[in-house]
Amino acid sequence: MSRKPFSKSRLAQGLATIAAVLLGLGGFFGLEHIMTEDHADAQEIEAGLNERNQLVSGHRAPKAAALRPIEDDVPVVSITFDDGNTSNARAGHILQKHGLTGTFYIISAFLETPNYLSRAELDQLVSDGNEIGGHTLHHRPLPTVDAAEARRQVCNDRDNLLAWGYEVTSFAYPEAESNQAIEKIVEDCGYNSARGLGGVRTKDGCENCVDSESFEPENPYRTKAPAMVTNQWSVDYLKKVVRKGVEDGGWTQLTFHDFCTDKEECNLISWTYDDFEDVVRWLAEEEKAGKLQVRNVNEVMTGKIQDSRPSTPPAQLAEGAELVHNGDFESTTQREREPFRCWEVVNFGNNTVTSNAGKVGVNGSNGMEFTVADYRSGDAKLLTKQDAGECAPEVAPGKRYRLAADYTADDITQFSVFLRGNHGQWVYWTSSTKFAPTDEFSRAEWITPEIPDGYDAISFGLAITGEGKLRVDNYSMQIPPEE
Ligand SMILES: [Zn+2]
Repeated sequence: MSRKPFSKSRLAQGLATIAAVLLGLGGFFGLEHIMTEDHADAQEIEAGLNERNQLVSGHRAPKAAALRPIEDDVPVVSITFDDGNTSNARAGHILQKHGLTGTFYIISAFLETPNYLSRAELDQLVSDGNEIGGHTLHHRPLPTVDAAEARRQVCNDRDNLLAWGYEVTSFAYPEAESNQAIEKIVEDCGYNSARGLGGVRTKDGCENCVDSESFEPENPYRTKAPAMVTNQWSVDYLKKVVRKGVEDGGWTQLTFHDFCTDKEECNLISWTYDDFEDVVRWLAEEEKAGKLQVRNVNEVMTGKIQDSRPSTPPAQLAEGAELVHNGDFESTTQREREPFRCWEVVNFGNNTVTSNAGKVGVNGSNGMEFTVADYRSGDAKLLTKQDAGECAPEVAPGKRYRLAADYTADDITQFSVFLRGNHGQWVYWTSSTKFAPTDEFSRAEWITPEIPDGYDAISFGLAITGEGKLRVDNYSMQIPPEE
């Protein structure tokens, strides 16, 4: 998901009031797997929650195919896929039809959620000779999170994949973002190699770079690759990139993301299945002619499958303590979707949302304001960042928690509540009672039901589900005193 934000508005430095127009398109920020199911029956939700946890833990992956040798004097092409979008299953089928294989970098906490592959589809990819690689738990750009969180994102994701039986040795950086400290974390988590994007010359940049990576990369934890394939690349342009790599005699890693049927409907990071098949057919012919060899990444970056490595569990806060981080929003960031540290804008459905992060809170302090127009469906909210523990408060099964926030609203509002499951996946859990419209800041307070078994962290926020304005400030979460 190296997707660029749809709107180019930027959070201004300092605390100036900023209006970021966010179209209700959901899918542009990697949060499309988050859904709110209003009015769902509690038992039904609980049954769904249990099912979600079992779907991914039930069975072992098929055995991976033996690694094929590389011929030293034949240039190599690797076909790689980031994110594990559902469309990758059909891309895998196209590869199989033409006798080729590739490397699929998976965001393990997104598996089995809308728009992402299922375990069964991953198993099929493995049976067809493809490689499964890691791409973190939640696809956060790793330099934007603290070191312990980065380690959880990388190690816990690899642990998930290993536990399910995938032989995971290759990694790709979310948004291709890394630095030396992050590369060390990836190595410590037991990976044999990691792919960035860039370091190889294309029309999208890196003018003074090489035309191919070496078979023995100088830095195995930041292997060089052409920029990702986008809908701005024609079939001919892609062939040109491959030919340059072949002439250079080295290794070319192609990176695809999503696929679509109709060019008109493809977004920036999607390619049509037809164009993809053209390229795959051509690569198969070139391989038959002895001009290149198509290999999975682990066939180039060979090495043993290393054991799972421990990560640092998130800090457990004392009972009676404030459990949310930065609930008053006084710590800010420069990121558009995360205006305040540990809080993230999430909106989906058919509506137009204007969000305003700045001095709109209680007594002119930092707050968040959403204005929704053209409402047909969906909602908008600022949620506790759904991560592996730097921001999301840990919870214990069987316990209840008191959620609170100051708000003003043109219409009723309620808390939307999400839980983190046994492989790091975030799922919608429930919504609170409703809170009345108010012009003056009022306190919304609600005690959750008992946390169900198998869930260990929470994320919540007041949601606006119609036209109008919602302001929020001073989020809080505590264990109620009577418990
Ligand atoms: Zn990605």
